[in-house]
Amino acid sequence: MSELETLFRIQELDIRIHASSESEENHPLKAVLERLEEEKQTNREELEKLGNSLDEAKAKQSKQESETQRMDEKLRKEEEKLYGGTVGNPKELRGLQAEVRAIKKQKDALETEILEGMERLDETTAVANDLEAKVEDLQAEIDGKRNTLNEELAEIRHELERLGEEKQGLRSEVSEDLIELYDELIKSKHSLAVVRVVEGVCTGCRVELPGMEYDRFLKSDGVFRCSNCRRILIK
Ligand SMILES: [Zn+2]
Repeated sequence: MSELETLFRIQELDIRIHASSESEENHPLKAVLERLEEEKQTNREELEKLGNSLDEAKAKQSKQESETQRMDEKLRKEEEKLYGGTVGNPKELRGLQAEVRAIKKQKDALETEILEGMERLDETTAVANDLEAKVEDLQAEIDGKRNTLNEELAEIRHELERLGEEKQGLRSEVSEDLIELYDELIKSKHSLAVVRVVEGVCTGCRVELPGMEYDRFLKSDGVFRCSNCRRILIK
């Protein structure tokens, strides 16, 4: 391979290295994973809120249950007085009857409230369970995708390493001056330093070489640069 062909091959490698680095940097799975993590986080926060309201509801329920027990106790005492025969005064008895009715009414209302609370608790528990299953599914999906991503990134890095080694080997075959010129052109000419001339046209800038220049180019076997874009031309 001539020095200029070697330089052209180095450029091909640089282009592939650039593309591989891009696909490492902007791997589509990275965005997918980010979205899944966000979704998982949102569901987790929701689950935490539900857990808190479940705890509150359970605490309220057990408080209400103690309250019904307290009412039962009170009811038992009042009924004992009412039917125990110790109270004979009709006015007092009527008072006790009214008291017993009032306690029973209160207790009924509280029991209805407890039942409604239990229904809500069941509903919320079901929602929380669904959400928990969803978070688990998301985690499994994340784990699977992360494995795939890691495998693919490892492949890309391996490829980058291989390309880098080949490039370094070839660079050592090219004279220092030419490599310096190449690096400078790569920076200033949008990563295109060495271009072919096809039918008298520079493929770097698409400008036709003037006749005399084209003749000189055809006869030259050294470094020849496009008079328009200054890139290194090869046949
Ligand atoms: Zn040109």
